[in-house]
Amino acid sequence: MRVAVFSTKPYDRDFLSAANAADGHDLTFLEPRLSPQTASLAAGAEAVCAFVNDDLGAPVLAELARSGVRVVALRSAGFNHVDVAEARRLGLAVVRVPEYSPYAVAEHTVGLILALNRKIHRAYNRVREHNFALTGLLGFDLHGRTVGVVGTGKIGVCVARILAGFGCRVLASDPYPSDEALAAGVTYVPLKELLAESDVVTLHCPLTPDTQHLIDAERIGQMREGVMLINTSRGALVDTQAVINGLKSGRIGYLGLDVYEEETELFFEDLSDRVLGDDDFSRLNTFPNVLVTGHQAFFTEEALHNIAGTTIAHLTAFERGGPDAVTGPARVC
Ligand code: NAD
Repeated sequence: MRVAVFSTKPYDRDFLSAANAADGHDLTFLEPRLSPQTASLAAGAEAVCAFVNDDLGAPVLAELARSGVRVVALRSAGFNHVDVAEARRLGLAVVRVPEYSPYAVAEHTVGLILALNRKIHRAYNRVREHNFALTGLLGFDLHGRTVGVVGTGKIGVCVARILAGFGCRVLASDPYPSDEALAAGVTYVPLKELLAESDVVTLHCPLTPDTQHLIDAERIGQMREGVMLINTSRGALVDTQAVINGLKSGRIGYLGLDVYEEETELFFEDLSDRVLGDDDFSRLNTFPNVLVTGHQAFFTEEALHNIAGTTIAHLTAFERGGPDAVTGPARVC
């Protein structure tokens, strides 16, 4: 299959090329993000391969369908950036990688919790300047603390297991409680109770119209004074302005983000020579108790290997088996 691969970085090229060695698809690696301005780069391709910040809204899908694309293979689990109804209407198949390494994201989540708690980001800078003072670096034992996991799917369950191993009491909220989470010792409670009782709240539910700004000013008001809030899921689960206000008032004592509401214009690029125009992002980075990573929770060897392998397998299945060759949770539409 001729495949236009958008938002390609050197690591995508390496892992996809290796996965494709036996299958021999004709992969064209394109650096630009997919957008209305770049969709024409897919001309002549039967498939498009896209990542989390590519634009798969109605105008782009229409352009892709017009140029002969039949399948969109997402190199991600999340598909909140796809206009699924429009893809269906146009007869475009959309597939994703529903599971590639929940451990990667869960371990990064716990990394943020530990770094924020023990102020490792600040200690790193201090020691490099030969400042060995401990004042301001006081942490707390995670053992015995209460952690609230919002969303106990594949990643949330991994997080719950790791934190149960630390000796935390783990509360969870999910409209579909999981046996695996219960087996890990999780107690399901309504979201309001989870927010009121948790020292750490960590988000692992998908972004949907229902979960947009799930964490807003009202919900922040229901949290414990000095709570640690972690979001490694999708930026728009959190109302950024409300979180900034929560940090200013002290209600939020720590904030760890791997995703950001307006990340599309920022993440995955080296902007170190530019002046950033995003005042909210700049404000977040002024707080000593905020730690932001640029959507890297998925970024492990195992995850990239699995993403590439599954993506190539999907393309091969389409080529050999036709439009209904991929089914189950991998099939978005
Ligand atoms: P999953 O589908 O296995 O689990 C999601 C869970 O959220 C489900 O159990 C679902 O019932 C629950 N849920 C839905 N609405 C909810 C709500 N309102 N309140 C509480 N729970 C709710 O997904 P997953 O593989 O665990 O991934 C979770 C999210 O992590 C993805 O949607 C994606 O956005 C994000 N993600 C981020 C990265 C990263 O690199 N930062 C990588 C992969 C996935």
